Amino acid sequence: MIVYDLACRPAGHVFEGWFGSAADYDGQRARGLLSCPICGAADVAKAPMAPRLSGTDTTPAFRPEVAKAMLAGLARAQAEVLKRSDDVGDRFAREARAIHDGDSPDRAIHGSATPSEVRSLSEDGIAVMPLPLPVRPPGTDN
Ligand SMILES: [Zn+2]
Repeated sequence: MIVYDLACRPAGHVFEGWFGSAADYDGQRARGLLSCPICGAADVAKAPMAPRLSGTDTTPAFRPEVAKAMLAGLARAQAEVLKRSDDVGDRFAREARAIHDGDSPDRAIHGSATPSEVRSLSEDGIAVMPLPLPVRPPGTDN
């Protein structure tokens, strides 16, 4: 398996494509089987290679242990962030607005919000960020 960074030409969306071999990529491209997952454009080419973090490895290969380690790192990082922020539950939208308006102490918070609450916050210039991983309510582990 090899993975290429691909980009659609109309919009420049970059995404990863997985192929059995370099010839497999050439074949799929020649037959017009490649398309951008974001906008659907079929005009796709290899993106300029970004520097890889993995040292001397010139053929990007999928290594499950790397993906697993990244996910574990992400989970740890998220746990750290959550530990240092207040869980305001479903009062998230109200609390985020109160902090923004200066009615509540400035601090990091997390909680849940409906899509329309998130939309209304961002319309008012209040930055909210979805968590990378789902949060399990306390007590539901295992
Ligand atoms: Zn695209």
